[in-house]
Amino acid sequence: MNMLSEAPPADPQVDGSGPAIRIAAVPRRDEATSATANAEYIVELQDVSCYYGSFRAVRNVDIKVAKNAITALIGPSGCGKSTLLRTINRMNDLIPSYRSEGRILLDGQDLFAKSVDPVAVRRRVGMVFQKPNPFPKSLYDNVAFGPRINGYKGNMDELVERSLRRAALWDDVKDKMKQSGMALSGGQQQRLCIARTIAVNPEVILMDEPCSALDPRSTLQIEELMAELKRDYTIVIVTHNMQQAARASDTTVFMTMGDDRAGYVVEQARTIDIFTNPKNQLTEDYVSGRFG
Ligand code: ADP
Repeated sequence: MNMLSEAPPADPQVDGSGPAIRIAAVPRRDEATSATANAEYIVELQDVSCYYGSFRAVRNVDIKVAKNAITALIGPSGCGKSTLLRTINRMNDLIPSYRSEGRILLDGQDLFAKSVDPVAVRRRVGMVFQKPNPFPKSLYDNVAFGPRINGYKGNMDELVERSLRRAALWDDVKDKMKQSGMALSGGQQQRLCIARTIAVNPEVILMDEPCSALDPRSTLQIEELMAELKRDYTIVIVTHNMQQAARASDTTVFMTMGDDRAGYVVEQARTIDIFTNPKNQLTEDYVSGRFG
């Protein structure tokens, strides 16, 4: 269970532009409910560096991602959060100037190994983007798209319904499955994209600022959905919204960048510790709004 999920938002403003987290508003729960206590790790980044041409955007990252938990990446703009996220499912391979070093283990398998097919990686590690991007197709076809490409042999109607139910969208759309995915509201479109992602049953879902184009109500719906989804999936989310990280995640990774503009990890810890008891002064300065 998410230790912060019962807490009211530290600040009713959820667009991230507000002041720093009011630390006193986050209740402390001492029992070891954290996903990082005795956690089983599904993804491990070992000494990962990311380059665009000769520019090193991210350096020497070691992160462990706990299974069935939500890990948030936070840090100032440009510190490499999205770069690192996109590296986890080898999306950045599509950028010609891009290369990475180090190892990323998914269930112990090195995703950078020569024998590994990046398309297969993207099936196991799905991605939800900042701006909802439904295909210009019917709702049904949006969800059925991935399974069809993968040659899914089961009952497609059931799979589509199950995926939409899991994305908390079924009740909104069950009577208009032929309608275009583009005709939905922004929040519904994002839930459709989540349904499309989970239809191929990935192990990990990466989310790159999935709420930054949404209103506060839709934002909270997505956060509630994430809390549901972590029972079956592992989620890594990039967010510029510290309140969101505090509310929605179990573990937080704080990144910043050095004078050479290379991003690096300052601290990874239980979310409650990052926001109430950070070990590093840089983390404290960032979460208290003194910097960033
Ligand atoms: P964040 O998500 O923390 O805002 P990004 O990962 O988007 O940071 O960017 C990290 C650094 O990499 C920035 O200096 C950015 O300009 C650079 N960068 C991002 N994408 C590209 C790209 N496609 N080509 C070259 N540089 C890039």
